[in-house]
Amino acid sequence: MSAELKSEERSLNFLEEIIEQDLKEGKYKQIVTRFPPEPNGYLHIGHATSICLNFGLTKKYGGYTNLRFDDTNPVTEETEYVESIKDDVKWLGFEWKNELYASDYFDKLYEFAITLIKKGLAYVDDSTSEEIATQKGTPTEPGKRNKYADRSIEENLQLFEEMKAGKYKDGEKVLRAKIDMESPNMIMRDPLLYRIKHAYHHRTADKWCIYPMYDFAHGQSDSIENITHSICTLEFVPHRELYDWCIEKLEIYPSHQYEFARRNMTYTVMSKRKLLQLVNEKHVTGWDDPRMPTISGMRRRGYTAAALREFCDRVGISKRENIVDVGLLEFFVREDLNKKALRRMVVFDPLKVVITNYAASEEILTSENNPEDPNSGTREIPFSNELYIERDDFMETPSKKYFRLAPGQMVRLKSAYIIKCENVIKDEAGNITEIQCTYIPESKSGSDTSGINVKGTLHWVSVKHAISAEIRLYDRLFKVEDPSSGEGDFKDYINPDSLQIIKSVFAEPALKNAHLADSYQFIRKGYFVLDKDSSTSGMIFNRTVGLKDSWAKASK
Ligand code: ATP
Ligand code: MG
Repeated sequence: MSAELKSEERSLNFLEEIIEQDLKEGKYKQIVTRFPPEPNGYLHIGHATSICLNFGLTKKYGGYTNLRFDDTNPVTEETEYVESIKDDVKWLGFEWKNELYASDYFDKLYEFAITLIKKGLAYVDDSTSEEIATQKGTPTEPGKRNKYADRSIEENLQLFEEMKAGKYKDGEKVLRAKIDMESPNMIMRDPLLYRIKHAYHHRTADKWCIYPMYDFAHGQSDSIENITHSICTLEFVPHRELYDWCIEKLEIYPSHQYEFARRNMTYTVMSKRKLLQLVNEKHVTGWDDPRMPTISGMRRRGYTAAALREFCDRVGISKRENIVDVGLLEFFVREDLNKKALRRMVVFDPLKVVITNYAASEEILTSENNPEDPNSGTREIPFSNELYIERDDFMETPSKKYFRLAPGQMVRLKSAYIIKCENVIKDEAGNITEIQCTYIPESKSGSDTSGINVKGTLHWVSVKHAISAEIRLYDRLFKVEDPSSGEGDFKDYINPDSLQIIKSVFAEPALKNAHLADSYQFIRKGYFVLDKDSSTSGMIFNRTVGLKDSWAKASK
């Protein structure tokens, strides 16, 4: 952690500075922002950054944020995505003022187009997209207008009307703004405003066969909603000129566009198109696969909304492209889970321990659910003379610094007693099958009068009380930090070992009542959460994150 991130008081980001200045000057009565996802995929951690930013600003400065579905492209959009987006924003802890759809503005946008035509600022062009591209010129060569630009206002009005009425096929005609074919900004060279697309739209059905381009929908939607600060990512910097041009020529509410750098993270990809490929080609089980950088994936994996918000807030935003270490996100997840997760004991690779001098058949011990949270209560843990410990918590010929179980050595069993290894039982092949120990009755946790100090503490479960569960351990989805920048296809860098399944582990019985919404710390093992694939016949736990950053060490 850098010192900068550790300080509770972070300095203002550049948008906060702008807004504070605007408010000081009395420019706005309230701040209005919007989060404008295109419903063509599930939201990812990059979107979470944008959500926390937009909603965070209006929360901080007063005002509200709209959720606007930017559904101007009928082909890729689906209602399933709309639902998942709403779910994710709510889960992150934010409330939008209005749920809006750019498609609700199609009539209004059509009127805006008519206004531009009437002002002589838009024309219908019959050129093919290839012709339009060549006529546009290059960044170093000015473009050239074609003859269609000279059409009269009346002709343009009629043709545009006919486009709307469905008289033409896809691609036969477009509506373009008449701006400047010689502009140094390529986007200003008579940009497309409308195209013909005979496609069914998830909300407007077959009402329209012409659809506005992003540049003719986004700014106008902002304006219709009186958005004061329209925040987007850096790739839209060159679009700002057109954004302002439309507002000026249409004489509508002057929203302003501000840009910040996209959130990129190591060991993953963050474009919906690529994420869709991973889903469609079954490299993952779905959009909410716990290895995905989607909000739904992270949520299923056990990341908390608080941790995601904290990550977005503390890492902040910048005006320059950068890539954030995913380890930083994991840091915030661990920090939050340490405060919230209920402690439980689970043995992954069992080795049987028999307590030879334990006369009772069993007893119930109690232990805190979470020592970090005084309100979390306690749980009961059954103890008996037959226990499981982890196989690697025993060593027949221990090294010097080995403080776990070994012949003649003592350890504490967490929340229970100190035991001493007396005897090792092996099968004919020489494999260790059982460890025989004695326990020290006065060493009971919480009322220890034994005076014995031991260095190692082990987790354990009672054999006859143990319940079994499946464990899914996740690793990075990609083998390299930036799979999109390498040679070849990003999928060449998929980590083939990103999922490891342990079919049967042994858990203490308190886990029987695990809830999907609760996080658990399996002592010494990491943070875990129940997976939605669990059924009454079997529980499945996802590892959210390890207890410490083992990846950083392993990859050094
Ligand atoms: P993708 O490239 O993943 O498809 P997108 O920008 O096309 O993303 P939209 O649905 O259009 O996705 O995005 C909605 C909002 O979220 C936009 O304002 C966009 O700028 C923002 N956003 C998208 N990706 C990121 C990111 N990686 N970091 C920050 N903001 C993002
Ligand atoms: Mg987009």
